[in-house]
Amino acid sequence: MKIHEHQANELLKRYGIPIPGGTTIGDLAQAEAAIDQVGRESNTEQFVIKAQVHAGGRGKGGGVRFSPDRASALENIRNILGMTLVTHQTGAEGRLVKKVMVTQALDIKQEFYAAITLDRATGRDVFMVSSEGGVEIEEIARTSPEKIVKQAIVPGFGLRSFQARNLVLALGLEGHAAKQAPGIFQKLYKLYRELDCSIVEINPLVLTGKDDLVALDAKINFDDNALYLHPEVAGMRDLDEEDPAEVEAGKFNLNYIKLDGTVGCMVNGAGLAMSTMDIIKQVGGSPANFLDVGGGANVETVKNGFRIILSDENVKAVLINIFGGIVRCDRIANGIIEAVKELDLKVPVVVRLEGTNADVAKELLANSGVSIISADSFEDAANKVVEAAAGKGNH
Ligand code: GDP
Ligand code: MN
Repeated sequence: MKIHEHQANELLKRYGIPIPGGTTIGDLAQAEAAIDQVGRESNTEQFVIKAQVHAGGRGKGGGVRFSPDRASALENIRNILGMTLVTHQTGAEGRLVKKVMVTQALDIKQEFYAAITLDRATGRDVFMVSSEGGVEIEEIARTSPEKIVKQAIVPGFGLRSFQARNLVLALGLEGHAAKQAPGIFQKLYKLYRELDCSIVEINPLVLTGKDDLVALDAKINFDDNALYLHPEVAGMRDLDEEDPAEVEAGKFNLNYIKLDGTVGCMVNGAGLAMSTMDIIKQVGGSPANFLDVGGGANVETVKNGFRIILSDENVKAVLINIFGGIVRCDRIANGIIEAVKELDLKVPVVVRLEGTNADVAKELLANSGVSIISADSFEDAANKVVEAAAGKGNH
């Protein structure tokens, strides 16, 4: 799960990590009061207005604007609030900006990068820093990865003092900032562990004109499987920022991920779902989604699955690929028949059922009177559905 920058800031503050003064609003009517408040609390006449969306690269897209006085801050709030912000992470359709953060502008001497995530190759959390932080970090990672310095964290030990010192050295910090940095790093790791984050990224972590380190832009994502341990974090979820079909699927415990192809897939088991997508690709098609209906699929699951798959207008044909291990194929067949009758399907449906009671299931489908293309093998099913999606089938 992702959260907004202003929510991440709340968490950083609670862990004692320095952040710029600021406040967040969702209504233009609150703009002047917000500017007054930040001006007073942070003792500043210069502001930065920042779009709150679940996507990075806001600065380059015009969603982060420096405002040298109150009038321009107001003007920038007016421009950003309600805009459709396009960045390299939003896709061409962009994101509607429903909230903006008004912050004090900082006098920046240097921008650093600091992040923690799990390195799946070594099975350890890794703390990364770079002295080349800011909006070009992706470019740095691609062209000069040696400029990102890493410390792997031994489970149970946390970020150790010598490791924090190594990170300070890597950033070339001196004086006050060098004393301040280890504490910030330890607190960041504590936050990451205690709240079951999947990533904590500060970019930039800035060195100000007064030699203070401040976390200027924070991105925090959480491990969904641990959210039940952190109801307060779970409460920060913003469904407006998520794909509506994925949100809908979540309500029925369906594991759905939207993709951009034309073949809708309904499969039981994540492994079979993956290989279904592979084989669709292999025979020249492209999957419209990943959908694992789970081991206990029933009539309701199949119906909900169909509804969600068909909410995607790109879907030109659907492949149902079910292996009846725990679930019986005849039950799935009944679900398919009911769903097809009820939902008034306009696209061809190819069905491959294998396993327990597959014979009964085939009979049920054949005698149902609904228009379904039956397939005998995995490959046969893939060929038929890709043909059907291309409009070359006999349906
Ligand atoms: P992002 O583009 O979504 O990563 O948004 P950031 O919050 O990281 O802002 C992008 C860039 O704007 C930063 O890397 C800074 O260079 C600049 N910026 C943001 N806030 C300030 C500020 O208070 N003062 C100055 N001088 N620059 C800022
Ligand atoms: Mn940033």
